Amino acid sequence: MEDDFEVAEKAREYSCSPYSHFAVGAALRAKNGKVYMGCNIENNGIQAICAERTAFAKALSEGEREFESITILGAPAGEKAINECVPCGYCRQFMNEYVDDKFKIYTRQGEEIKAYAMKDLLPHSFKF
Ligand code: ZN
Repeated sequence: MEDDFEVAEKAREYSCSPYSHFAVGAALRAKNGKVYMGCNIENNGIQAICAERTAFAKALSEGEREFESITILGAPAGEKAINECVPCGYCRQFMNEYVDDKFKIYTRQGEEIKAYAMKDLLPHSFKF
C-alpha cells in the first residue's frame, strides 16, 4: 500500500493540468494485485477527467472488474502532496458503480495515511 503512494506520486508527474495547475495522481489496485495509474487530464472545454476516473477507465477497458483500493495524491504542480485529496462528487458516484463494501480510498494528510470506505464518502448513494 505504501508503494501505491509512490505510484500515485509518479502519476502526478503525467498530469495534464494547464488550467488548474493542480496535479492529481491515482493508483488503482485491483484484487489480483495489478495497479493502474491515473492522472487528471484537462482541456480548454469542460470535459476534464479526474485521476480516479482515468485509472478506472484504463482498468475497466482492459477487462478488470474487481478492485481493492485507490490511492490519491493531489497538490499544485511541482509541490509535494501534503494535504488530503479526496475524490470529487462525480468520481465518488462513478467509482461506486464498480466497487464493493471492502474497497478503500487512501490519501495522506502530511505523513498520516487516511483511509475511507466508499460509504464514508458517498452515504445514501444512488444505485439501481
Ligand atoms: Zn473527480
